[in-house]
Formats: sequence, structure tokens, C-alpha cells
Amino acid sequence: MVGKEEPLPASDPSRVPGPTARVLKPLRFCGALGITGPRLAAPPNGRSGSVDPLEDPQMAPLAPKPRPGVLDIEAYVPGESHVPGGITPIKLSSNETPLGPSPKARAAFAAAGAGLERYPDGQATALRQAIARRFGLNPDRIVCGAGSDELISLIAHAYLGPGDEGLFTEHGFLLYRIVVLAAGAVPVVAPETGYRADVDAILARVTARTRIVFLANPNNPTGTYLSIEEVRRLRAGLPADVLLLLDAAYAEYVRRNDYEAGLELVATTPNTVMTRTFSKIFGLAGLRIGWAYCPEAIADALNRIRGPFNLSTPSIAAGAAAMDDWAHIEASVRHNDQWLPWLTAEIEKLGLQTTPSVANFILVHFPAAPGRDAEACDHFLKGRGIILRRVAGYGLPGALRLTVGTDAENRAVVDALAAFVGASA
Ligand code: PMP
Repeated sequence: MVGKEEPLPASDPSRVPGPTARVLKPLRFCGALGITGPRLAAPPNGRSGSVDPLEDPQMAPLAPKPRPGVLDIEAYVPGESHVPGGITPIKLSSNETPLGPSPKARAAFAAAGAGLERYPDGQATALRQAIARRFGLNPDRIVCGAGSDELISLIAHAYLGPGDEGLFTEHGFLLYRIVVLAAGAVPVVAPETGYRADVDAILARVTARTRIVFLANPNNPTGTYLSIEEVRRLRAGLPADVLLLLDAAYAEYVRRNDYEAGLELVATTPNTVMTRTFSKIFGLAGLRIGWAYCPEAIADALNRIRGPFNLSTPSIAAGAAAMDDWAHIEASVRHNDQWLPWLTAEIEKLGLQTTPSVANFILVHFPAAPGRDAEACDHFLKGRGIILRRVAGYGLPGALRLTVGTDAENRAVVDALAAFVGASA
């Protein structure tokens, strides 16, 4: 119980408005600056006014505390970008496209630089319309975000709270655990079978508290996918009040007749959302652009909680131009179609196992033997200026993830892997 407080004059700047006025810390440098600060009121606990709350352990409980779950989060570690020695690395650690963005997107980005003093269009209208035109969608049901990361996070914040459960799979994209914990909810993990999401295992872990099932399809970092039949079976097996989030960040790369990113399920069910990104095949990772296709009620909820100007003017312009240049996307798909099987075959020839991938990256498995394992290979490759992605944080300490690069990068990484296998044999 705090002691009775003497009200200070309303004009006293050491008071902040609110139901219980707080005592502000004096400026540490006041004396040095020749500034005379406001006189401190006696702290409510009756101790001397000279105590620095930051240094007094008894005051520690007054420090701001993040909500439960936040400090259980292990912050996301992005793919590395630097190697020792200051050389320009071959960066195959973040599933970025080796072909870069459409030249039309670059031009739109540059042109947008002319009006930076103005706020962006808070509805990202040009971008939503370009997406809607491309896929034949209702633009009102498209919500754009600063990367699909932001949309996944917004969905978690809108639909999860303390006591709720967010369900994802064993080697699922790491962000899901982060957003579930950040929303104060409980992460629940379903085992995979052969590095692939298992519909029955997911359904077996649904409880009355499950609110969202997160499924990356194809999944990062495994590169495996579920057919539309399996996704339909998953949706049909989930209770109606469970939101199914289909994260289709790599959808454009998939060349399988039985794959569908999620448009069909979003169109036909009230409880499925699909997220997509401009960071991968569109080559605009640096701009942070993503989109979600949602049932109307879910779009409405996301629009209420998103930042009013969550996409910048250059992002809106470049994204719309990129979406209108489908020839560039097709060229990127052809590049991937050529190199994904080549890399897979060459790596297998070296005696290393790979997980069959439908995306623009490959999971490469290493033996558990010291000097021949994933960690040793990672060091060896970095010594040659090549960066792959360590995936121990995904429960895959024995593997590295390799992104399809340019022709020269792909040959270089295979040569380096051959040298590693030869040296460590
Ligand atoms: N989902 C998956 C499966 C991903 O791999 C990534 C990027 N690593 C994202 C979502 C987020 O992408 P962005 O925020 O760049 O759109």
C-alpha cells in the first residue's frame, strides 16, 4: 500500500498524468549541464529521494515487465551475410532470388523517391489491385503487410491470447513459435514424418484451446509440401473455430500438379488464411512486402490492428510493378527448375543426403561424425566465402540449408562441398 501522497501543483513537471502519479528520475547530467531539475517528491515507500531506482534491487519490481511468454522467445536469427576477411561472400543462406527483382520494380521504386514527404496510401490500393488482377481475387479481402512476417504476427495477435494454443509442426518455420509466445499463448508442436508435415499428427494435437494451425506449404527449411488433397483433409478435420494459416512464401516455385497455395480454401471456407511474400521469387526482400488473402471477417480484424501506414510508398509502387511483370517471375521459375534438380543430383553424388525440395532451397544432411558434420562443413564453406544456413534452431543440427544461387554460385558451392567431402573422407 503506498503512503498518502501530497498532491503537487498540477504544473509540476515531475508528475505524469494517470490514476497514480509516478515520481520521475532526476536527469543524471543536470548539474553538468547547469540545469536545475524539478525537486523530487519523496518516494511513496518513504525512502530517501536520492535512491536511483535502476540501481536499487528493492525497487526492481517496479521495472516494466514484458507479458508472460515474451522472455521465453529466442529471437529469430536471420541467415548470415558476412564471412571473415572482408571478402564478398556467396550468400546462399536466406532463400533470396539470384535473379533480383524485375527491372520494372526497380524503376517504380526509384520513381517513388520523388514524393517521400507524403504519407503512403494506407490501403496500399495499387498493390492490392495488382495482386487481385494477377490472381483474380477480391481486393477487399487482401491485406498487405511489411513482409509476410508482419501478417503472421498480426494474425497471431488478433486470434491468440493467454491460455490459447498455436499449433505448428516439428521443423516448421521458426516465426510461428515466436508469434505464439508473443501473443501470450502456448506453442504446441506436432511431429513430422520424413521431414514432412503429417496431417494426422497435427489433428491429434488439436484441443479445445487450439486457435490457429500454422502450416508453411512448402515448408522452410525442409522444402517439403502437402498436396491440396492433404490440406483439404487437414481443414476438414479442424474445428470450424480454428484458423488455418497457410504460409505459401515459396508457392511460385512449386511445380507439382497436386499443389495449390491456398486460394481455393480461402475462397471456400470462412476460417483459412493464405499468406504470400514479395521477398522470395519477386526479389524484394529488402523492401518488406507481404500479403494475406483472407475471409472478409479476418481481413476486417487485421485491418483494425495493423499500422495505418504499414507499407511505405516505394514498397507499394515496387510491389505493384513486380506483380505486373510475370515474365520476370517465369524466368526465375525456369532458373530454379534448371538448378534445383542439378544441385540435388550433384550433392547426392558426393554421398550427402538431401531432402527432396519443391522450393528454391535444399536441406543437405551430413554425417554425425566430428570433422564431417554440418558444423564442420559450415566452417569449411565460410573459409571459402560461401554461407549456407545453419538449421540447428529448427531441430536439424545435422543439416545445412542451401539456397539456389546464380549459375556460378551453384557450381562454386558444389565444388566446395566436393572439396569438403574429399578433405574429410
Ligand atoms: N514464411 C516462410 C515459410 C519463410 O521462409 C519466410 C522467410 N524466411 C517468411 C514467411 C517471411 O518472409 P517475409 O517476411 O520476408 O515476407
